[in-house]
Amino acid sequence: MRAALFPAHPGPVYAGFTAWRFVIPAPDRPFVPHETWGRGGVWGTHPLKDGRVYAYATARLPEGGRAPDGEKAELRRRFADWHDPIPALIDAAGAKDILRNDVRHLRTPLATHHRGRVVLVGDAAHAMTPSLGQGGNQAIEDGVVLAHHLAPGGDLAAGLAAYSAARLPRTAEITGRAARASRLTHLTSAPLIAVRDALISTAARLGPDLILRGFASIADWRPPQASYAAGTATGASARPARDTGREPAQR
Ligand SMILES: Cc1cc2nc3c(=O)[nH]c(=O)nc-3n(C[C@H](O)[C@H](O)[C@H](O)COP(=O)(O)OP(=O)(O)OC[C@H]3O[C@@H](n4cnc5c(N)ncnc54)[C@H](O)[C@@H]3O)c2cc1C
Repeated sequence: MRAALFPAHPGPVYAGFTAWRFVIPAPDRPFVPHETWGRGGVWGTHPLKDGRVYAYATARLPEGGRAPDGEKAELRRRFADWHDPIPALIDAAGAKDILRNDVRHLRTPLATHHRGRVVLVGDAAHAMTPSLGQGGNQAIEDGVVLAHHLAPGGDLAAGLAAYSAARLPRTAEITGRAARASRLTHLTSAPLIAVRDALISTAARLGPDLILRGFASIADWRPPQASYAAGTATGASARPARDTGREPAQR
């Protein structure tokens, strides 16, 4: 649909790394949830509420590759000497549990997220690398903002234009940041990795929340105000204010 609407757009391009994912029962012994950056690769392990764990790994590799002896063997080759619980998780995963997908993103943002009466949300509009864990989150934000701008009885064309205007700068910015984060996590040069790791551990020592503060402009997003309900109550126009991504009180 995107290609039909925007034929001149280059479409998704390979981000330079492939990803493996699996969900299996949690290991018997406790472990610390983590995301670990190595040389040209990442491993993350996170507990799920239902007692299973979600594990993911990425590695900088040419596009389209598949391990001739299976992806479990590939994970062993790359990560078996990483820290606990990684080797145990690889051992526990069944060959069929492991998904492998090359990561592609819309490096060039679309000019708009709608055309005529057709609107794009989520990855169709702004597929990004998973390095900031934002693809699904931004899709949800899209849905909230779109619903906000399509108040019943409102002008459809104006509502879709307002949706695009609200979402495009934010999603383009986050897509760019995610791509930069991906490059940082997939460095292969030993000197650059040493500098990266030194900077990260210095930042962590300076203040536990210093690194997290870098995410503030992503995480402090607030839904646009529910002006439809307010407008109905007061008899005012249902046309909402533009989503600025700021606290309602700041508007
Ligand atoms: C390795 C990895 C890790 C990620 N980690 C995170 C994370 O931690 N946090 C986060 O927020 N996001 C994460 N994401 C991103 C997230 O998965 C996506 O951004 C999100 O799934 C996008 O949702 P979507 O509904 O736009 O698209 P999709 O989830 O791709 O849904 C599109 C659906 O449309 C269906 N479809 C396609 N064509 C047609 C057709 N012609 N007719 C009918 N149906 C069709 C597809 O089968 C699919 O079910 C990650 C992605 C990857 C690859």
